[in-house]
Amino acid sequence: MSTKTFQEATLAIRGGRTLDNHASSILFPLYQTGIFVHDAVGVDKGYSYSRVSNPTVDALEQALAALEGTRSAVSFRTGMAAITTLLFTLLRSGDHAVLSDVVYGGTMRLFREVLDHLGISGDFVDTSNPAAVEAAIRPTTRLILIETPGNPTLKLADVQAISRIAKRHSILLAVDNTFLTPILQRPFELGADISILSTTKYIDGHNATVGGSIASHDEALMERLRLIRKTLGCIQAPFEAWLTLQGMKTLPMRLRLQCAGALRIAQWLQAHPDVKYVFYPGLESFPQHALAAAQQRGFGGIVAFELQGGAEAARHALNHLQLCSRAESLGGLETLLTHPSTTTHADLDPQLRQTLGISDGLIRISVGLEDPEDLIADLSQAIAAAASEPRAEKDKP
Ligand code: PLP
Repeated sequence: MSTKTFQEATLAIRGGRTLDNHASSILFPLYQTGIFVHDAVGVDKGYSYSRVSNPTVDALEQALAALEGTRSAVSFRTGMAAITTLLFTLLRSGDHAVLSDVVYGGTMRLFREVLDHLGISGDFVDTSNPAAVEAAIRPTTRLILIETPGNPTLKLADVQAISRIAKRHSILLAVDNTFLTPILQRPFELGADISILSTTKYIDGHNATVGGSIASHDEALMERLRLIRKTLGCIQAPFEAWLTLQGMKTLPMRLRLQCAGALRIAQWLQAHPDVKYVFYPGLESFPQHALAAAQQRGFGGIVAFELQGGAEAARHALNHLQLCSRAESLGGLETLLTHPSTTTHADLDPQLRQTLGISDGLIRISVGLEDPEDLIADLSQAIAAAASEPRAEKDKP
């Protein structure tokens, strides 16, 4: 049967999967090896050295490609390795890129610490405004890289509108689709050329691995990415690939529950008297709710909010959590709460944080798969405990 006709649940479990040809094990085997023996001089079975390729990593790439709807995908040791390889593949000294101002902080650091020194520049602009993207384009611009929804305020970019601009200027458009995955957002159908995933998050879904992936319909680009990956030495490891292959089978089911849990929690927070505001694209109050409904196939599992008591209340509430974990990642089974201003976005200039809407009191929730009522009970007691803590003078209303 053609993979193209599968529904997404089937695709996640069966798409791109093959039986191994030794024992027909139902799970593709873990080829935990660095090298492969040549049958004779110049004769091998397609593998030689695991920095170049490995059958288990190939199996993961085929499964990822089936989800993305592309012929192939290229898998990396981390999401940052995927982004770094992409930028080294596409950009040379003198080239320029336009990126979302809410793009993952590691990508900003990559420009600041590495690419800027090599003569490759990036402008980080408000990609929720397509006109700002077009205004930032220079004759040397080769790539537009957007992240939608952005982290942690969930600000969206209109992928179709930006893809029209990119095409008009003959510039490639890449979408970091880590927050939604191909299940909830289809970058290629919206006109993008390249899809980026940190598989660390929803794709693995079990907080067991770190990894990254790039997909495109442009096979010449994919081939070049494999060459640069080999050169940089950042291919995914076989065991991580094997774990990711298992984790991603439940992706559509997990996301369905995570979307429902996130909406339930967002609505509960919105009705809570101690909550100042809530960001969740599924709420009608979210400024880009209509764009989310049109562009996405679900509203995602991430919610952000601020308490009336600001930064001090956020610190107390996070410290009083009993079930949810204080941690920086997202997308796994366990619900995680993050304080962006002291963790994921601590590197950013405080003024820029304010401009991006990342207040010192903002809390991000990655809703996991525990029962939402248990999560709400934990949030409720943590918010109540924060309210009964003595307030610092500067945080009094
Ligand atoms: N892209 C996004 C949207 C992310 O959130 C992250 C990590 O948080 C990355 C890329 C980088 O991925 P990794 O941590 O797997 O290197």
